[in-house]
Amino acid sequence: MYDVAIIGAGITGCSIAYELGKYNINAVVIEKENDVSVGTTKANSAIIHGGYDPKPGTLMAKYNIKGNVYTKELCQKLDVPFKQIGALVVAFSEEEKKTLEELKERGAQNGVPHMEIWDKEKLHKEEPNISDNAVAALLSPNVGIVSPWELAIALAETAVENGVDIKLNTEVTGIEKKDDAYQIETNNGMIEAKYICNAAGVFADKVNELINEKTFEITPNKGEYYLLDKSQGNLVNHVIFQCPNEKGKGVLVSPTVHGNLIVGPDSQPSAGDDTSTTGSGLSFVKNTALKSVPGINFRESIRNFAGVRARTKKHDFQIYEDKKNKGFINIGGMESPGLSSATAIALDVVKMLADTGLVLEEKNDIVDTRKVNRFKHLSHEKRAELVKENPLYGKIICRCETVTEGEIVDAIHRPIPATSIDAVKRRCNAGMGRCQGGFCGPRVQEIISRELNIPLKDVPQDRLGTDIITGETKDGGAR
Ligand SMILES: Cc1cc2nc3c(=O)[nH]c(=O)nc-3n(C[C@H](O)[C@H](O)[C@H](O)COP(=O)(O)OP(=O)(O)OC[C@H]3O[C@@H](n4cnc5c(N)ncnc54)[C@H](O)[C@@H]3O)c2cc1C
Repeated sequence: MYDVAIIGAGITGCSIAYELGKYNINAVVIEKENDVSVGTTKANSAIIHGGYDPKPGTLMAKYNIKGNVYTKELCQKLDVPFKQIGALVVAFSEEEKKTLEELKERGAQNGVPHMEIWDKEKLHKEEPNISDNAVAALLSPNVGIVSPWELAIALAETAVENGVDIKLNTEVTGIEKKDDAYQIETNNGMIEAKYICNAAGVFADKVNELINEKTFEITPNKGEYYLLDKSQGNLVNHVIFQCPNEKGKGVLVSPTVHGNLIVGPDSQPSAGDDTSTTGSGLSFVKNTALKSVPGINFRESIRNFAGVRARTKKHDFQIYEDKKNKGFINIGGMESPGLSSATAIALDVVKMLADTGLVLEEKNDIVDTRKVNRFKHLSHEKRAELVKENPLYGKIICRCETVTEGEIVDAIHRPIPATSIDAVKRRCNAGMGRCQGGFCGPRVQEIISRELNIPLKDVPQDRLGTDIITGETKDGGAR
């Protein structure tokens, strides 16, 4: 029997797993997909927000501020791409200048440090590509950009190194309380645990209702994006927001940690976790973004994608122990700034578990650092050393992103093995470049097949069922 079962391996579940790995307990993460971080965690704006946007007194405000600091610390420790580039909220009218003042005041109440308002001259000096119509901006220098999936993977890998189990391809379908333990029914058999953390993202309300009556409801809401080639990555130096409205923080334009430009999202109702993109959504995103940065060349778009917000009526995180079911903790309503807040929320979830009876004794020895070989970023000397040690680092497989076979093999054999082409991409960037895996995808597929000793046709593009090969050509057929 496990002490704690965490349902969902997004940034929320992985952060909790990372914290629980520090204690002498048995914990397990249960995830329905074939990898961690494939829900909302892989499809968002990738911003570690400053904390000026949430209403004072909300859980969003509390955890955003703490998470902003803690996430940066964890990224440094666990070798996750992160850059603190700051954000600008841009005003286009005298009216919007008042919004900047209000946001600055709200930020001060929430505890955001060093915010300042820039006039037109300063704004255009620091951001030469911003629209001539921009008249002022609010700077929040604590805002960062991150690789969200790499953060979740790093946290989960470290948790596994510290003894936390992870069960992928395992969907929770029922929960029952028997004596002092929860019986968790899955498509892979029964799992028993004394405590449950429900971190099921867009489905957290459904998982809650497997044992409780409805206590919160998620109305999924989709946001669509453009990802542009590195040729556009230097158009802006900060995360550029427009003034927020009732639908959210609006369309942003931002560099990514990988050197691209991200533009989006819009906001529209979504059916469940449907992440399809639409012509109307994307054209709204494009036209709105051009208002901030008119020079964006959308012909340099290399990918469109969408992410789904776990929106609730309260528009705040739902983090509480269920009144009727002791030891069942919901971490729901994780819409933005959930990515920025999850690491701090996890610290409090651990406290909640302790308060409700879980005995937490710290382990003497834990793994709390992580180093990933990123060939592209190494000096010539280090590259030569690495190739001498292992010639696979001398073979470039992804030419757009300069990713070597050595890094791909590393990704496949890390504590949570990459078993799909996109799982490799999330771990070492192969396929993230201009050709989006058009050239290296088949090579990556062959390497996974070879390293895991599985048939080539059993290596999917991403989730189970996203098969690329169905069989051999001319197999048994008449010629
Ligand atoms: C468009 C958009 C932009 C955003 N931008 C930002 C931003 O810039 N900064 C920020 O801070 N936040 C942002 N967010 C919010 C942030 O992305 C989320 O708060 C965060 O990713 C939620 O993580 P999670 O782990 O709670 O959920 P998820 O990542 O969705 O993980 C939940 C996991 O649970 C699994 N699961 C579900 N049901 C079951 C089941 N029955 N059994 C087993 N497993 C199950 C799913 O497969 C999934 O992997 C944005 C969100 C969206 C949609």
